[in-house]
Amino acid sequence: MTAIATLGSHCALQVLKGAKDEGFNTILVCEKKREKLYRRFGFIDELILVDSFNEITNQQCVSKLKNEEAIIIPHGTLISQMSSAEIESISIPIFGNKWILRWESDRNMKEKLMLESKLNVPRSLSSPKEISGLSIAKRHGAAGGKGYFLTTSEKDYKRKRDKLIAKGIIKGDSDLYLQEYAFGVSAYLQYFYSPVKNEIEFFGVDRRYESDIDGLGRIPAQQQIEIDGIPSFNVVGNSPLVLRESLLDEVYSMGERFVDAAKRLVAPGMTGPFCLEGVYDENGRFTTFEFSARIVAGTNLYVDGSPYSDLLYNEPMSMGRRIAREIKNATNENQLSKVIT
Ligand code: AMP
Repeated sequence: MTAIATLGSHCALQVLKGAKDEGFNTILVCEKKREKLYRRFGFIDELILVDSFNEITNQQCVSKLKNEEAIIIPHGTLISQMSSAEIESISIPIFGNKWILRWESDRNMKEKLMLESKLNVPRSLSSPKEISGLSIAKRHGAAGGKGYFLTTSEKDYKRKRDKLIAKGIIKGDSDLYLQEYAFGVSAYLQYFYSPVKNEIEFFGVDRRYESDIDGLGRIPAQQQIEIDGIPSFNVVGNSPLVLRESLLDEVYSMGERFVDAAKRLVAPGMTGPFCLEGVYDENGRFTTFEFSARIVAGTNLYVDGSPYSDLLYNEPMSMGRRIAREIKNATNENQLSKVIT
């Protein structure tokens, strides 16, 4: 039986619990400092202890994973800790399309794929000179919202950028991507696409709780004005959400357009979990400012299934378990090559 492996962070517990529930051996590549935490969970069969996650490409780690016939489940930590080139060079099979992770990390490629999917995307600004209304400056890659800031003019942008440079968070303009700020209520739409069934499943929706920006609403406007710091969008957790049922049809259409566009632009396409991230306006129109081309941590809410996965499965189905189920189905139908790269 194949083993399922992942890095010890982000959604590792949910992924390995789901893998165990589906009968796989489970392996965690674990930083030594987190060993105590992960030893608490009986569904993790083996820990490969490392000083840092990029040791996953070391000969010793690779041969251990190969011996166990492991498949790696990529998540946000893999993307934030390793370059696209490093991820692409991993010789262990990766669940999903490892080539699409580059499209997630590179803001320009990301925008291209979202536009190809005919999603409603906020305008990106090629220079701070173009800032006219409320805009957001974002870092590349899966930075988790750290070091992002809102700005309304070139002058204000430069002041905030220089503060982040002084703190060592960014090096300069090339670390930032500017986009118009999209107003509305945020929603992070979680999907799974199965190349085995050739079907898309809407799995759940969450909201992110981001510090400091979500804490600001607790402070009266007078005190907000007096704060000199730059509020960040650093995710600290997620809360559940269900959508008006009338929005669901378009949710499926957006997911399908994304899957079709990914097939055209980055073979073999969008395999497995992904997330479209954005805001709904007063008319229920969704603006997508971001996507994740792999499991998102917001799915940790639904270890026991979500209001949407419950409509599709008569058993508790987390995203982690759904991944393991796909690997099992693909193996049984001799189609494993369709779900790994
Ligand atoms: P991201 O890394 O793009 O997911 O952005 C992190 C957070 O910044 C999001 O969860 C949103 O709260 C916020 N954000 C990013 N882009 C936009 C945008 N264009 N309009 C409004 N909020 C945004």
